[in-house]
Amino acid sequence: MESNKVLVVGGAGYIGSHTCLELANKGFEPVVYDNLSNGHEEFVKWGVLEKGDIRDRKRLDEVLARHKPRAILHFAAMIEVGESVKDPVSFYDNNVIGTLTLLSAALAAGVEAFVFSSTCATYGLPESVPIDEQHRQAPINPYGRTKWVCEQALKDYGQYKGLRSVILRYFNAAGADPEGRIGEWHEPETHAIPLAIDAALGRRQSFKIFGTDYDTRDGTCVRDYIHVLDLADAHVRAVEHLLSGGDSVELNLGTGTGTTVKELLTAISEVSGREFQVDLVDRREGDSTTLVANNDKARDILGWVPKYGLTDITRTAWNWHSRRNQGA
Ligand code: UDP
Repeated sequence: MESNKVLVVGGAGYIGSHTCLELANKGFEPVVYDNLSNGHEEFVKWGVLEKGDIRDRKRLDEVLARHKPRAILHFAAMIEVGESVKDPVSFYDNNVIGTLTLLSAALAAGVEAFVFSSTCATYGLPESVPIDEQHRQAPINPYGRTKWVCEQALKDYGQYKGLRSVILRYFNAAGADPEGRIGEWHEPETHAIPLAIDAALGRRQSFKIFGTDYDTRDGTCVRDYIHVLDLADAHVRAVEHLLSGGDSVELNLGTGTGTTVKELLTAISEVSGREFQVDLVDRREGDSTTLVANNDKARDILGWVPKYGLTDITRTAWNWHSRRNQGA
């Protein structure tokens, strides 16, 4: 019988580990390739870990020859926008050189299906919302530009080298495995949901809202929070699409519903049953007012329907963070 192995690059990280869970549920055999710079070894629960860096061509060749995966899912990247402004060289080194090295290894090994983690940050400041895939791409920071460059390479490799790919542009990944085995764990943490939960848990003194004078229903920024297991489900569908001969495609992954920062804080207070201090501070540089996905294309091509809403997101995130806090 043909192997059902897939290489999950960055599979020890937040979205990668949840995708391994979903891949295993669907009968795939994940093989995790991760340098553990931001990933966590204890998140590798579904499949083996092959420790390695995406810039290490020799190691990649070795792992690809050993496992002969049918497809590659590539999550490994530096993701923090603020860091990308301070240290663009590391971002280009990891995200661009690393991805190009991985793609060369994939081509040499004859892998034909590639799923790439991209981001709504490749759109930059939106001209119209909800954002569809036709929206012009003009990223406004090095992080977004490194992802955009990789997207261009993937399109050229598809057209001229036959490497078929699905580019998935995430909106705001959030939530955790409902069973609490894995969850969001970044160091340092900059994302709104974990920071607000930390405030509710008393691990931080307060939550700071970055800007209350935006042109939105309550003055705070609007984001499209999408549950990490809905993202994972889309990845499995993307692999199936490619393995059954589907064409290369780029897709937005969001719910299509926007939530303000204040609405998010209310949801976290409700689910935790705790009030916490909220400070109103200046806008954070580079934040867009509203980022909401038009997800029609992902629904149409993958038959994907997001199953989780904001309450599921905050409940599963609270569950994960409050347990982790006990163990910390
Ligand atoms: N945000 C905030 N305080 C924080 C962290 C985030 O008010 O301590 C806001 C941020 O300005 C944005 C939203 O929460 O409007 C989501 O931010 P996050 O960093 O989670 O994701 P981003 O949308 O930047 O990818």
